[in-house]
Amino acid sequence: MTEPARPPEELGALAQRLLDDLALVTDEPGRVTRAYLSPAHGRSIELVGGWMRERGLDARLDAVATLRGRRAADAPGRGRTLLLGSHIDTVVDAGKLDGCLGVAAAILALEEIDRRGERLPFAVEILAFGDEEGVRFPSPLSSSSAATGTYRRDWLVVKDRDGVPLERALRAFGCDPAKIDEAAIDPAGVLGFLELHIEQGPRLEHWGLPLGVVTSIAGQTRMGMTVVGMAGHAGTVPMELRRDAFAGLAEIALTVERIGRQGANDLVATIGRVAVLPGAGNTVPGRVEASLDVRAGVDASRLVALDRIRHEAERIAARRGLTIAFERHVDVPTVAMDGNLQNAFAAAVASLGLDVRRLPSGAGHDAMAMARAFPSAMLFVRSKAGISHNPLEWSDPLDLGLGVEAMIRTILDLAARERAP
Ligand SMILES: [Zn+2]
Repeated sequence: MTEPARPPEELGALAQRLLDDLALVTDEPGRVTRAYLSPAHGRSIELVGGWMRERGLDARLDAVATLRGRRAADAPGRGRTLLLGSHIDTVVDAGKLDGCLGVAAAILALEEIDRRGERLPFAVEILAFGDEEGVRFPSPLSSSSAATGTYRRDWLVVKDRDGVPLERALRAFGCDPAKIDEAAIDPAGVLGFLELHIEQGPRLEHWGLPLGVVTSIAGQTRMGMTVVGMAGHAGTVPMELRRDAFAGLAEIALTVERIGRQGANDLVATIGRVAVLPGAGNTVPGRVEASLDVRAGVDASRLVALDRIRHEAERIAARRGLTIAFERHVDVPTVAMDGNLQNAFAAAVASLGLDVRRLPSGAGHDAMAMARAFPSAMLFVRSKAGISHNPLEWSDPLDLGLGVEAMIRTILDLAARERAP
């Protein structure tokens, strides 16, 4: 029995209802906070698992607590599986959309495909990852890493703020860390991974477009910088004899900003944390510890900027009688999204009568880990004012519905190609 297609307005309202319900599941009453392996994470698995089962998916939990809802192919094909999804963990005091949209949209897309009487020549598995944000443990993307067989064993010994190791938290949640290898999905049988996500930035809004196709996920380098000068009495050390570590960092910060502005390929450079030591109002700062975060859509742009920042910072430090040391914490290359799947998303967006714009993602996503093993692609939905990781995070429900409809059309397009000889 075929039913008329629900328009984007209706799909958006349905998505919003699911997201509102999921947002009520929280570790902190009054705000949305769902940490990995927390009681709220457990309740969210029950809720989302229920949504999956109501729609005929077989839902189970893998060894790292990823909720996986699967349905078999209902038309002849090549025996492959299409993966869909995103994450259901959140940052502290989060919005309703980050991650959860990709899970809710996947569930709605399958429901709507059934209503329209369409048959799919591949199995579909919806993945609701539990550890994308890395908020409770410093292990971001660990869930999607497990799905690709690239889980890092050293994550199991990292501890949360209460001193609980990840391995113990997994066991307490009912998961068996000895079976993490079994959570890996064999790439040979996978058609690809599709993730719908809010943009979390202002560009689509600036362009006046509800949807955008992601080209790549920006590589990032995160470093620590330590500038050392000489502490002294703020009343007695004359200006010309000072070696003020903070004044030096301030000059370096403006240089970082200038290099960031001059860079190509969406280069961004940020000093987000500064500790001034000894940290007294009547003492010339002798030491400053600062963070540096540099990202770009192309690795070469990031690496050239890092070289320039280092060179300029050393020159500024030397001129001021300071020393500067750098320590690299994170260095992740840019990950390109699959060209064919990008084109499938682009065709779906165009079929909705919308301009197709492509853009890189400055934030990390599950698709970044999934791309290690499977052809992967992302579609962004416009965010109001680019706000995310904040309770004010919001997208127009109509945009959410357009995102779901684009996902439906992309899946049907892939189905048509899978059937073709
Ligand atoms: Zn996210």
